[in-house]
Amino acid sequence: MKRNRADGDDDELPQQDDQSNVSDEKSCPLKTDELVCEICMVKGKAREDMYEKNKCSHTYCLTCIGKHIEVKIQENKTCISCPNLKCKSALEPEFCQSLVSKELFDIWMDALVMELAKEENWRSCPSCMTLVDKTDGCLRITCSCGFKFCYACEASWTDAHRDCEGDSP
Ligand SMILES: [Zn+2]
Ligand SMILES: [Zn+2]
Ligand SMILES: [Zn+2]
Ligand SMILES: [Zn+2]
Repeated sequence: MKRNRADGDDDELPQQDDQSNVSDEKSCPLKTDELVCEICMVKGKAREDMYEKNKCSHTYCLTCIGKHIEVKIQENKTCISCPNLKCKSALEPEFCQSLVSKELFDIWMDALVMELAKEENWRSCPSCMTLVDKTDGCLRITCSCGFKFCYACEASWTDAHRDCEGDSP
């Protein structure tokens, strides 16, 4: 009798059943049910409870990222970066609006405008605090409220400011 095991029922060749897991992890790095908040380390939260809009790969739950943003706004930060200390990625205000109170968000936006104004060398009117952009070479700024002030030092305008060099030393 020849051995013919072609149809043997004991073909216990090691079927690579684990294969699927491995390839899953490679092709799909973000398993939808395995998002981990890097602050509270809770995982498995629903996707809609997670903040993953930032450009980096860090994910946070909305509660944690909301608190993070609140704290930063209260610290007067305008550029709020990812809570991960090593991460330089900044959070987009438009994605954060729903995470903090309107009051705080307004404070943040005001701070952003002020920062931009500083960069652009805008001046705020000492009388009404409106930001004024210098349009011509003249140091005398006339605000829309009618107040005239010196562009260089933001003092109310007198002719003495004609060659004002502002508060630079
Ligand atoms: Zn969290
Ligand atoms: Zn990050
Ligand atoms: Zn004014
Ligand atoms: Zn001046």
